[in-house]
Amino acid sequence: MGTKTAPVRQSVQFNKKLLDKNALRVVNTIHKAGFEVYLVGGCVRDLLLGLKPKDFDVATNAKPEQVHKLFKRSRLIGRRFRLVHVMFGAREFIEVATFRSGKVQTAKNGVITNDNCYGKLEEDVVRRDFNINALYYDIHKQEVIDFVGGLKDLEAREIHMIGDAKQRFEQDPVRMIRAVRFSKKLGAKLSPEINACILEQAPLLGNISPARLYEECVKLFQNEYSFEVYEQLEKYGLLAYLFEQTRNNDFVKKACINTANRIKRNQSVTPAFLFAVFLWQAQNERFALIKKRQRSFHLAMMQACDEVIMRQIKQVSIPRYLSARMRDIWMMQAKLEKMPPKKIEFLLQHPRFRMSYDFLVLRSKSVNPELKATAEFWTTAQQRDA
Ligand code: ATP
Ligand code: MG
Repeated sequence: MGTKTAPVRQSVQFNKKLLDKNALRVVNTIHKAGFEVYLVGGCVRDLLLGLKPKDFDVATNAKPEQVHKLFKRSRLIGRRFRLVHVMFGAREFIEVATFRSGKVQTAKNGVITNDNCYGKLEEDVVRRDFNINALYYDIHKQEVIDFVGGLKDLEAREIHMIGDAKQRFEQDPVRMIRAVRFSKKLGAKLSPEINACILEQAPLLGNISPARLYEECVKLFQNEYSFEVYEQLEKYGLLAYLFEQTRNNDFVKKACINTANRIKRNQSVTPAFLFAVFLWQAQNERFALIKKRQRSFHLAMMQACDEVIMRQIKQVSIPRYLSARMRDIWMMQAKLEKMPPKKIEFLLQHPRFRMSYDFLVLRSKSVNPELKATAEFWTTAQQRDA
């Protein structure tokens, strides 16, 4: 399987400042060793739109072992696919993938069980998800290679699936949430076909492993258009397969917008905060039920936290250090609400104070207006403390 028509080649000189030096080093080394090599996917898409890419992916006809040999600091990785990570720091790396053919083996339900056959460039194109994500950039010729009409789609701000949308979503349902995310990120319209298929196929998302969905959820909500994505996921019925316990309210909306603003201002964000917001109402409801038979406030709170988190991680896993933070934020709310005179200093010094305070402020601005004075109390207490 591959694409038969000749590709469109378009000369483009990208702004050097937007190109990642390490990615260029990797491409140059592989090129010098005599292989075919390109920048590919989201980075080319973003560069064409003048956006700073989040990461740079490299595609080549060199086999993973051959790439590995070219770079001292590289490692072969791969659960589903064999890839090479060329390391430039503890967490900084460039991912190099060998061209793969679109030949896939699927299980009875259509899910991909093996698509790890190496192929040619024109075969690699068709295994990608959307036309806009299947552009290749040859840095030596300074040209974009487009087999599928991705350039035209970018211009028109449209997202079209490569191949049959229904089948491609069956093969990998995560493509549905990717489509929603890209449409908001790029201000692009989903094709009518994609639109109809997501509405129909949303339940397939329930088959994806919680660990994979965690990674995707961070990408879905930690960005400048967080709430728009949230609303779309809800509209398409996808949210129920990620956060079934979450209901849209003003708190959720304000927290998403707050996250987006923090990212725009280059402030730090943690998924723990947003996830704590998403599950707060559910935690409260569980607590109210448990409290009827459990007299200890503390134990009832702990049990409600446990139950809500246990139910959540069946859909989207949450690393333990993050769920511990969520618990801290929740447990701190009652303490902050009490404003205990003898414990003010202690609470102000608590490592989770800042996050819990932000949480309280957002509650007071949305679902708990009666907490306005309490929030102001803590604002003043911090100023006094500074
Ligand atoms: P961003 O980095 O902004 O999230 P991206 O498009 O670069 O967007 P990545 O997850 O970095 O997304 O993937 C890089 C490329 O790999 C994509 O552009 C696409 O070509 C391909 N790809 C990623 N995930 C899938 C998938 N589930 N199905 C098909 N192709 C995919
Ligand atoms: Mg990317």
